[in-house]
Amino acid sequence: MEILNALRAYTDPFRVTSGKDFFLKNFDPGETLGLKMHKEEAQQLLQRGSKWLAMEQEILYAQDSWAVLLVFQAMDAAGKDGTIKHVMSRVNPQGCDVISFKQPSDEELSHDFLWRYSRKVPERGHIGIFNRSYYEEALVVRVHRHLLRAQKIPPRRVGNNIWDERLADIARFEDYLTRQGVVIVKFYLNLSYGEQKKRFMERLDNPDKNWKFSASDVRERRYWKDYMHAYEEAIRATASEAAPWYVVPADNKPFTRLIVAAAIVEAVENLDLEYPKATREQMKDLAAARKELDAEAVDETRPDQPGDDSDH
Ligand code: ATP
Ligand code: MG
Repeated sequence: MEILNALRAYTDPFRVTSGKDFFLKNFDPGETLGLKMHKEEAQQLLQRGSKWLAMEQEILYAQDSWAVLLVFQAMDAAGKDGTIKHVMSRVNPQGCDVISFKQPSDEELSHDFLWRYSRKVPERGHIGIFNRSYYEEALVVRVHRHLLRAQKIPPRRVGNNIWDERLADIARFEDYLTRQGVVIVKFYLNLSYGEQKKRFMERLDNPDKNWKFSASDVRERRYWKDYMHAYEEAIRATASEAAPWYVVPADNKPFTRLIVAAAIVEAVENLDLEYPKATREQMKDLAAARKELDAEAVDETRPDQPGDDSDH
């Protein structure tokens, strides 16, 4: 389809389907594909994308078969929340769940690391958005070793390969979900170190943005290199055709949103969704229902409407 091809022109450069030869440094956070995009133009395209997605989601819901899981990962201030808000703006909230994963609770720490995430995987017909995800288990937990200790894993199960093992577990988990009909698309919003500083500064300078600022964000920034290493390893170990990563340039917000919208539309379009066709049995029911309603129309002027039980 023509439109799909047009979308691919946007998404191809950022899609990672194999860890082989993957290096973060090959992805420029400031990239805009030479598109000198005006804000309005980007917004219009984005609106078309979200409208389309809303239509597709209706069919997804009616079909009650596929599920879509969108995973969002990023450093602070990369624009996860805004991107999710804009891209999903027109989708029917009944078929869409956004789940934000924060520090785990005591109960969650008492279970295997995938426990809390697997309970929130979207049901069939739904779109689920993970705002942070099981990837944190090989990102923040990798960067801050004490978080791993809090997970109370028996010491003999914590070896030198723990991160490779964890990422392999995640990759298998995603294979499993994919085979169950869960379509997985993963986004890493690729923000530069410099742009993060700029956005933090804005949060400090602008009183209306102060609430977004947290002192811990600046503390985490000190671990930037460790995070980049952890992200690179995570993407390398888990990028696949079935569950691709998109390394989306995040220094330019309108562009970020556009790429994310395009990637989601593309993934859902690829399912060739159609409204479920009625079975022969259902057709009979429909015909009977029509007959009954038609008969009713003839008597429309009848004073005693059903529900009016005055003459009973
Ligand atoms: P925003 O800052 O835009 O509100 P956020 O996703 O950063 O969004 P916060 O409440 O600031 O939300 O942070 C959530 C914190 O929880 C992050 O610092 C993240 O690293 C941490 N977190 C997420 N998952 C885990 C985990 N499994 N173990 C430990 N910490 C985690
Ligand atoms: Mg935060």
